[in-house]
Amino acid sequence: MTLEIYQFPARSDNYGVLVHDPETGMTASIDAPEESAVKKALDANGWRLTHIFTTHHHNDHTEGNAALKAETGCEIIGPRGEAEKIHSLDKQVGGGDSFRFGNYDVQVLDTPGHTLGHISYFIPEAKVAFVGDTMFAMGCGRVFEGSHEMMWNSLSKLRALPEDTTVFAGHEYTQSNAQFALTIEPDNAALKARAKEVDALREEGKPTLPTTIARELATNPFLRACEPEVKAAIGMADAADWQVFGEIRKRKDNA
Ligand code: ZN
Ligand code: FE
Repeated sequence: MTLEIYQFPARSDNYGVLVHDPETGMTASIDAPEESAVKKALDANGWRLTHIFTTHHHNDHTEGNAALKAETGCEIIGPRGEAEKIHSLDKQVGGGDSFRFGNYDVQVLDTPGHTLGHISYFIPEAKVAFVGDTMFAMGCGRVFEGSHEMMWNSLSKLRALPEDTTVFAGHEYTQSNAQFALTIEPDNAALKARAKEVDALREEGKPTLPTTIARELATNPFLRACEPEVKAAIGMADAADWQVFGEIRKRKDNA
């Protein structure tokens, strides 16, 4: 039996995600953006919360931790590097660690930059990754705590995942990301097509996530900072990948 995954909106533009292993009955919430939204999602599926996998310390990813733990006794797993900021952690993990969730292995990737301790979770057998605020559809998280080089290295780890990996991210920022991406690569055919798809989905009120590594490799300007055509497009043909990434990030910050 395969892992069941349920994505739902929370707060103003966050996504919550529940991951359920039907064989063992275990259910994990990827982050806990909002207690009520997570509870509603659990009820809608008839699942009982056993775990929370935290990606980083920001309030819109951890606010529901304490209440959900008090109600369900769930185990909260999260980044060792942010344990001092996330008081509710039961188990601290970091890059290179893996742990069992039901019948699945969960691998932890260090993906710092948005915050210094940010981690992502990858379940190879299910070909699924949960990247929090490291990468979005056609975008990436703001580099609040780390450096551009650090964030580029984190995105490079996501680049290296199998192309058919399904990727869940923390926010629905896709439409504005697409508009920005087109300013970097106005002639990218895959990007132009995707931007149209995204507009249609949003018009119907539908989510544009999850995405896949393959789609991001084709359309995400931040992930594409190492591509010669992207470097050339912004007049940085000879610059290092992370410097090109940094320039694109700066332009987005000022957009
Ligand atoms: Zn965040
Ligand atoms: Fe966030």
